Amino acid sequence: MFFMNLLRLLPAVDELQKNEQFTSIKKTYDIADSILTKWLSESIQVIREQILKKEIGETNLQGDSISKIIFAQLEDKVKKELKKNLRPVINATGIVLHTNLGRARLSDEAIQHITKVAKGYSTLEYNLQAGTRGSRHDIVEEYIKKLTGAEAAVVVNNNAAAVYLVLRALAANQEVIVSRGELIEIGGSFRVSEIMAESEAQLVEVGTSNKTHIFDYERAITEETALLMKVHKSNFDIVGFSAEIDTEDLLSLAKKYELPIYEDLGSGTLYDFKKNRIGKEPTVQEKIAAGIDLISFSGDKLLGGPQAGIIVGKKRYIDRLKSHHLARILRVDKFTLAGLEATLSSYIKGKERRDVPTVRDILLGKEEILKRAEHFVERIRVQTDSYNFTIEEGSSKVGGGTMPTEKLTSYVVKVRHCRLNSTELGKRLRELPYPIIVRIQEEQILLDFRTVDEDEVAIVIEAFLEVDRAGRN
Ligand SMILES: *Cc1c(COP(=O)(O)O)cnc(C)c1O
Repeated sequence: MFFMNLLRLLPAVDELQKNEQFTSIKKTYDIADSILTKWLSESIQVIREQILKKEIGETNLQGDSISKIIFAQLEDKVKKELKKNLRPVINATGIVLHTNLGRARLSDEAIQHITKVAKGYSTLEYNLQAGTRGSRHDIVEEYIKKLTGAEAAVVVNNNAAAVYLVLRALAANQEVIVSRGELIEIGGSFRVSEIMAESEAQLVEVGTSNKTHIFDYERAITEETALLMKVHKSNFDIVGFSAEIDTEDLLSLAKKYELPIYEDLGSGTLYDFKKNRIGKEPTVQEKIAAGIDLISFSGDKLLGGPQAGIIVGKKRYIDRLKSHHLARILRVDKFTLAGLEATLSSYIKGKERRDVPTVRDILLGKEEILKRAEHFVERIRVQTDSYNFTIEEGSSKVGGGTMPTEKLTSYVVKVRHCRLNSTELGKRLRELPYPIIVRIQEEQILLDFRTVDEDEVAIVIEAFLEVDRAGRN
């Protein structure tokens, strides 16, 4: 049998280890000898099986030594083993808080602070003045209090955890009144009703899905009522015949019955986008000033920080949250606190429009986006005529389930390639070492440079040129 001869040609592991290709792969990828040796013998095994299955025959080996095939197999394996699953991408969709792409990107200040804290030891739970144990709760609380006007604050893992902690700590085995119109589901994974069931707070739904009146709340109040809850409708707008209860009405009811009001704000912005005529999102400080007892919101939505759930409000409730055993389970790590502290510091300085990418990108004027788009198109046109570009006015979205109906005026580049259809083009852009994520709309792809930083534009240009070059073969 001819493959028997081929099998006999297969070199032994220790022989291949002496080959300079082995040393070169070891060096290039910085892998321990023992591990690379193990992968080498697995690679030999793969080639052996391919010979037995006649996938490799003598014709494949002409002019090629068998060790070359084995090392090619080894290098493939090394690349596969070392490939990161969490990969940075360029978001050319124009959706600022793209949930699937990691929501907010952090400010340079936040990244630097996280890096410093990660590298060494830190005062995570250490009081420098006293030289004794401190509390991680103190790290960002003062900043949050200053920015929101709240009496106290506590930070947990994400806003879903915040909702759970509030309900569990303040309303387990008691009743919580919520309007039917606010029983939302976000991204299929967050349902207020399910979190409530989990927390063992009893949900008392009032009103209908489009109308809830103050008397609906009042009738539902019993001895068992622990909390009046409002959920900010961040990911949908009920348009048309609907009525939502005014905060003031609910506040006077809460006062009358001595019940706390808790509002899950979802996005919770500290920057007032209304000033720039973007959306109708209330700021956290407005809600606190109105007298809401407890508010929770996400750290990585409009705030533009790391994933976190921030709870602010009256000290007597926050204290109960802090001392609940769940607070230990839901607590944030030092990286989150470092990122959050630096992000909040930009707001303290009044520099969030310049320094916090989320705020900056939402406020970015369409002229700047046009400039990036034109630069991109010009740079590609001088190198290839495979692409057809048109730049048009379009709109970007905030994303992350916030301000769903708000359209940010922008410019989009519509792209066609002479040989690759839009699906194929989108796929090839995703398969690059530094993937580019675009919108695909029928026969063309759409690029919105709102979410592509100036220094990322060069990477996008190179990506389109690379896809075109590869497409020629
Ligand atoms: C986004 C959102 C949540 C969940 O927040 P995470 O930080 O993603 O856990 C909860 N409630 C509302 C209203 C939201 O918009």
